[in-house]
Amino acid sequence: MGLIVQKYGGTSVGSLERIQRVAGKIAQRYREGNRIAVVVSAMSGETDRLINLAKNLSPKPDSREMDVLVSTGEQVSVSLLAMALKDLGVPARSLLGHQICIYTDKSHTKARIHQIETGKIQQVLESGEVAVVAGFQGITEEKDITTLGRGGSDTSAVALAAVLKADVCEIYTDVDGVYTCDPNICSKARRLDRISYDEMLEMASLGAKVLQTRSVEFGKKYNVPILVKSTFTDEGGTLTTAEDEDMEKEVVSGITYDRNEARITLLGVQDRPGIAATVFSALADENINVDMIIQNSSADGKFADLSFTVTKTDSERALEIVRGKASILGARDVVGDTAIAKLSIVGVGMRSHAGVAARMFESLSQVGINIIMISTSEIKVSCVIDEKFLELGVRVLHDAFKLDEPGNSLEKN
Ligand code: ASP
Ligand code: MG
Repeated sequence: MGLIVQKYGGTSVGSLERIQRVAGKIAQRYREGNRIAVVVSAMSGETDRLINLAKNLSPKPDSREMDVLVSTGEQVSVSLLAMALKDLGVPARSLLGHQICIYTDKSHTKARIHQIETGKIQQVLESGEVAVVAGFQGITEEKDITTLGRGGSDTSAVALAAVLKADVCEIYTDVDGVYTCDPNICSKARRLDRISYDEMLEMASLGAKVLQTRSVEFGKKYNVPILVKSTFTDEGGTLTTAEDEDMEKEVVSGITYDRNEARITLLGVQDRPGIAATVFSALADENINVDMIIQNSSADGKFADLSFTVTKTDSERALEIVRGKASILGARDVVGDTAIAKLSIVGVGMRSHAGVAARMFESLSQVGINIIMISTSEIKVSCVIDEKFLELGVRVLHDAFKLDEPGNSLEKN
């Protein structure tokens, strides 16, 4: 018996049959005596469909109205799921973001949760009803509807679990957990039973699309255990939880990649104070996020080459902005390259093991993969490589770090 928050993603509620199946799963847990709050995404494809409607109507849809529009997807799925539960004899109540006061800031289409008032939802749970909560949506102090960014229902669920002090936040999706790497690329990929918040944060932000990054930040901050499971089987699952000593034994826990990056290089800019500031302030003013940055000065110290990466989506705009500044910076040329990908290894064990990056570089070089850029953090090493070698790179690193066996270590090779 406990208090459980469950979240069902778009594919899990993608058809009426699936909604009925989900209702069956919830009913079972309910009958075991648990209090349950369920967070639901829009039926699969629905959010995309709504976004396309807006884009076909307006070249630059107003973001406040966009939120009113896209939040309707979740209104459909919560009502249907609550109906299905009631048909199974389980008392249930659908609840929208504004009804349970999920307060956010005013950044439409990518709002951040500030506060959730628990009064209403507690009342629903205590009365013995299953609370079926619309994910992805919130409300500002001014009562405008907001949404939390794509994949935001994960964040709704973990935030709700945090404020309700739930025993666990179960995220039901179409995969049965988090893998050492993308199983579609590497047949030896192994499901992880457990992973730390920090590793999951790196994996999520590096492109493993299982959980929205923000949801893991919430989990870490409020120590909410997050269990990722498949809606369609009872087996498996990966628990994201606080780090412990056992986790450090694994040098590398996972390999992840991101194809959505592009590189921009300014060639031969003057080597003087203020150059980087000019470039990156101009990008920041346009809300363009920069990921990796590399600068090389020539031996005589007169010129430098400056390279950085942005998302492919932002790359055209970033190129335009930087080209606009090229003459002030004295750049000889500005070039863009979208045929790149970022390949990364992640593991808390890196904190206590030397030679991890060296092994990565060595393994890539052995198959002739050239490294274009490198960046590191305490628990991650990322390399930008030619996109066409990405899949090979993933497989080579999976072998090099023996990720198909639990308890891998550098010594074993
Ligand atoms: N329906 C929203 C989306 O497609 C939120 C979510 O599914 O988490 O991004
Ligand atoms: Mg998702």
